[in-house]
Amino acid sequence: MVENSELRKAGLKVTLPRVKILQMLDGAEQRHMSAEDVYKALMEAGEDVGLATVYRVLTQFEAAGLVVRHNFDGGHAVFELADGGHHDHMVDVDSGEVIEFVDKDIEELQHAIAEKHGYELVDHNLVLHVRKKK
Ligand SMILES: [Zn+2]
Repeated sequence: MVENSELRKAGLKVTLPRVKILQMLDGAEQRHMSAEDVYKALMEAGEDVGLATVYRVLTQFEAAGLVVRHNFDGGHAVFELADGGHHDHMVDVDSGEVIEFVDKDIEELQHAIAEKHGYELVDHNLVLHVRKKK
């Protein structure tokens, strides 16, 4: 199973909850899921994994570099698999929907701005808070 080797590669022991949660993140339509989203999806799939376990496993995945945690609206964390390469996010302030995008101009501009200030860009986080046009 691909999940098992992914876990081992990340230095984590293969346990049933870890495999189930990784499968869920891999197969879900929604790329950005909160711990509650993962928990509910597991319940709906008939898997018996408690919310506390989901939290713990997601934190372990984050520490192992398997997932990235985002805090888009302050307190509410969502997780996504760390396989997507670099991208930025837009969050719909009404529905909470997360949209991914990459824009070449924005990427280049950020390098230029850092450079202008005598710095080299190491990383960045860009989140646009958006509302659907009526
Ligand atoms: Zn993303």
